[in-house]
Amino acid sequence: MKPLIVANWKCNPTTLREAKALFNTVKNTGAVICPPFVYLSALRTTGAQDCFWKDSGAYTGEISPLMLKNMGVKYVIIGHSERRKHFKETDETIERKLKAALRSGLKPILCIDKISQIPKGIKNWKLKIGNLIVAYEPLFAIGTGKPYPMAKAQKMNQEIKRILGDDSPVLYGGSVNPQNARDYIRKAGFNGLVVGNASLRPQEFIDIVKNIC
Ligand code: PEP
Repeated sequence: MKPLIVANWKCNPTTLREAKALFNTVKNTGAVICPPFVYLSALRTTGAQDCFWKDSGAYTGEISPLMLKNMGVKYVIIGHSERRKHFKETDETIERKLKAALRSGLKPILCIDKISQIPKGIKNWKLKIGNLIVAYEPLFAIGTGKPYPMAKAQKMNQEIKRILGDDSPVLYGGSVNPQNARDYIRKAGFNGLVVGNASLRPQEFIDIVKNIC
């Protein structure tokens, strides 16, 4: 299977003009681009950065998985460490979001920093668990410019697959750059990458995609 590359733009850029320019330079990479919600309708990307756990209702400010699905979104990042840190998301709320995303037919990308963040009993959920993608994103490496050691990352990849099954796609995220991208796929055996800061620098992002092919 071709490695899945996910671009997490986080809260960037600040204008639609810049978002369009960035998107136009990277759209042919085949990566899943996850822009801020406000740019979804203009860019028609297949990825989003978060979703709520209800489909509709009196929940001011929230974006539902059904809305994303109806916009043509296929993948949604859930439980990113920045959401845990700045918005106090918990294992419980993340589990609710995960279930809602699966129920809507989206492919959730569940970000974890430790094995305990994989919901207990997930394999028995009566939901399309085959759509689940896990992203191993060690806190040490997120946005720090300090990529996680390859051997340790490989061990975590194997541990996640031991729990969820060998066919479960597991991505690596954390200070990926054009120099280390290939090794996370070839040596550590990940099925793809989540790229944060480097995805805002088009040439670097294009080089990451090129280098893993
Ligand atoms: C991320 O935020 O998901 C991420 C991988 O960030 P960075 O590449 O900047 O470490």
